[in-house]
Amino acid sequence: MTPHATGKQLLVVGTVAIDSVETPFGKAEDVLGGSATYFSVASSFFTKVRLVAVVGEDFPEQHFDLFKKHGVNVAGLVKARGKTFRWKGSYGYDLNVANTLETKLNVLVQFDPTLTEEEKLTPFVFLANIDPDLQLRVLNQLRQPAFVALDSMNLWIETKKEPLLKAMGMVDMVVLNEAEARELTGMSNLIKAAKEIRRLGASIVVIKQGEYGALGIFEDEVFSAPAYPLEDVFDPTGAGDSFAGGMMGYLARQGKITGDNLRQAMIVGSAVASYNVEAFSLGRLTQLSFNDIVNRYNEIKRITVFDDFAH
Ligand code: AMP
Repeated sequence: MTPHATGKQLLVVGTVAIDSVETPFGKAEDVLGGSATYFSVASSFFTKVRLVAVVGEDFPEQHFDLFKKHGVNVAGLVKARGKTFRWKGSYGYDLNVANTLETKLNVLVQFDPTLTEEEKLTPFVFLANIDPDLQLRVLNQLRQPAFVALDSMNLWIETKKEPLLKAMGMVDMVVLNEAEARELTGMSNLIKAAKEIRRLGASIVVIKQGEYGALGIFEDEVFSAPAYPLEDVFDPTGAGDSFAGGMMGYLARQGKITGDNLRQAMIVGSAVASYNVEAFSLGRLTQLSFNDIVNRYNEIKRITVFDDFAH
């Protein structure tokens, strides 16, 4: 496997943020974050990625270089007047639950991207966590994409459910964490919740379960992807976005959606996310090599494979 082989291009629209995060193991202030940030760097290991997002005048120039170093096309990362979107969050000992302490939308309030012709024609598209009205506006500009996926969060389920459901009905794959899937559908069983989400239109639903892995529900199949059992987790921020980045990057690289590709892509997502949580912000992702990902993929396979029942 070589990175950037024959992959289809991938477009991501989401947030690029300045985060302040506190976990039981330390804290990081004013560091690079955002749904599209984690996603684009994670997916850049597998294919060419275009990033569409907005930052403010306070956004440090060196972060642009970080994207460029990963080959992420930042032509669609606009600098607007005002301040960058800011998110402040904390985690307790249950690292699966993020508590939002503060959200300052800042330049996101006015953000209304007009895609270029090239962006509109990108075959693989990921609508990362951002206001669902904006996701809809992007969806309406796309020209016959091959595969579109969408992520969201509790804030939008609670404040913008109607446009969110509409957007979910226009994509091929919905990616949510377990709490979001339950909140959205009012169902506690995740398989039933996923089936309910599929009824909106998306044929594939992936439910992330933090340190317990992820469930993929497609056609008649339920696939359970384990998480890599890590001893040291420092910061779970971006785990979901780097999971989605690894998964979508791999799918775009393979170029077509099959059951095998989806199962492999979910394990790739698990591998990338497991690295991401080993350091604050993008500290670990930016030190990662393609071979590191392949090695962890193989390790996940090794620790989960077992023989037939012995009679
Ligand atoms: P994750 O941990 O993968 O769910 O995503 C964490 C990232 O989501 C952080 O870096 C935040 O900047 C970003 N984020 C937090 N709240 C929002 C929001 N309301 N809309 C979009 N992105 C957000």
